[in-house]
Amino acid sequence: MKILIKNGHVVDPVNKLDGEYDILIEDGKISSVAKGIKAAGAEVSDAAGKIVAPGLIDMHTHLREPGREDEETLLSASRAAVKGGFTAVCAMPNTTPPCDNQGVVGFIVGEGKRIGLCNIYVIGAITKGRKGEELSEMGELHDAGVVALSDDGDSVDNSEIMRRALEYASMLKLTVIGHCEDKQLSRDGVMNESFISTLLGLKGRPAVSEYTRISRDIELCGMTRGKLHVAHVSARRSVELIRDAKKRGINVTAETCPHYFTLTDEAVKTSGFDTNMKMNPPLRTADDRDAIRAGIKDGTIDCIATDHAPHTEDEKDREFDAAPFGIIGLETALSLAIMELIDTKTLTWSELIERMSSNPARILGLNKGNLTVGADADIVIIDHQKKWLVTKEALESKSKNTPFLGKTLKGIAVMTITGGRVTYREGAPK
Ligand SMILES: [Zn+2]
Ligand SMILES: [Zn+2]
Repeated sequence: MKILIKNGHVVDPVNKLDGEYDILIEDGKISSVAKGIKAAGAEVSDAAGKIVAPGLIDMHTHLREPGREDEETLLSASRAAVKGGFTAVCAMPNTTPPCDNQGVVGFIVGEGKRIGLCNIYVIGAITKGRKGEELSEMGELHDAGVVALSDDGDSVDNSEIMRRALEYASMLKLTVIGHCEDKQLSRDGVMNESFISTLLGLKGRPAVSEYTRISRDIELCGMTRGKLHVAHVSARRSVELIRDAKKRGINVTAETCPHYFTLTDEAVKTSGFDTNMKMNPPLRTADDRDAIRAGIKDGTIDCIATDHAPHTEDEKDREFDAAPFGIIGLETALSLAIMELIDTKTLTWSELIERMSSNPARILGLNKGNLTVGADADIVIIDHQKKWLVTKEALESKSKNTPFLGKTLKGIAVMTITGGRVTYREGAPK
C-alpha cells in the first residue's frame, strides 16, 4: 500500500527539514521525502497549509490495563493516543498487578500489537511490586523488551536501592525514570503549598518535596554514571538543578507536562475546587510555570510528556481532599503545546517536535521520531489553526478527567499514520 502526502510543511528536527515537501510511504516505511513526488497508484493526502511531522511519542502514560479497565483500557488509550497525534506511548508500570515481571510486559506488548493503532512500549518497575524494597529482575525485564525502568507513582525512598537501580540499569543501557517526591515532605498535601493553599484552607505539598529528591537522584546518577530521566518537572528550583547537572556533564534528562506550562495553583481557586485541577505533582505558582517554559525553551527540559492518568467520574466526583490525583492528557497535549508554546513564540515547530517526538525516542533508544528514508512511517498531520471544543463526547479516552472540559483549544491532529497505516482520520466515524 502506498500513501503520498502532498504539499505539507514537513518538520523533522533529526534530518533538519523545515519546509514544503511531499512524503511517499510504501510498505509501512518512508520511501521518499522530496519536492514534487509522483507515485502512480498511491492514496494521495493533501496536506497544504498543515504541519507534517514524525508521530508524537509520549514517554509517560498510565494505560490502567491490567487491573483498572473501568478507567482505561489498552484499546481506549490507543484510540485516544492516535487522536492526539501520538504514534507511540510508554506504559507506566503502576498497574494491577504491577509491571515488574515478564508476564505483564508480554501481555501489554502482545495486546498493543493486536490492537495495532499505536506502538505501546513498556516501562518496567524498578523494584518488586513497586514497594521500594528490593530491585526487580531487571535483566528479565530488559529481555522482555522494556524501554526504561520506573516506580512512578512512588519515589524510591531508599537511597541505597536507588543507587543500585542506577548501576544495574546502566549495565543494561536502560534509563531510570524518577518520580521525584519526598513523601515525608509532601505527606497528605492536596495542592501546592503556597499563599493560595493557605487561603483555601487546603493542605499543601511544598515544591521542596520535589527538588530535594531531584537533587539526591542527580547526585546518585553522577556518582554511578547511570542514566536518569526526571518525570513531570513542576517547579523552578527543579529546573535550575537539572540545568546545573547538565552543565556538570551528568547524564540526566527531564520532562514536564502540558498542565505545568499552562495552569497555576490559582486554577484550584478559580475553578471552584475542580478535582480535575488535582494532580501530583500539583499545579505550582506563576513563577514556577514561567521557569518551566524557560526550561523547555533552553532544552533543560528535553520532553513534553502527558502523565495521562485516567480516573472515572465517580472517583473524581468527591471533595477536593478526597479525590485521586491525576488528569488525562493524550488528546489535549498537542493543542496546549501549540497554544502555549508555538503561538507565544516560545518554541519553533522544529523545537516542539523535538520535545514531543525526537527527544523521547533518543532517550529511550527507539528508532523513531524522524522521517528518515527507510524508517517506520509513523507520521502526524497537524492543522495548527483548527479550533475544537473539549467535550466528554469528543474524547476517546474512557475517562474524562481533564481540566480543559468545556474549553475551546486550537490546533489538532487531522491524520495519524502508524507503520504506514492510517490509524486516525479527523471526522472519520467512530
Ligand atoms: Zn509520577
Ligand atoms: Zn505518572
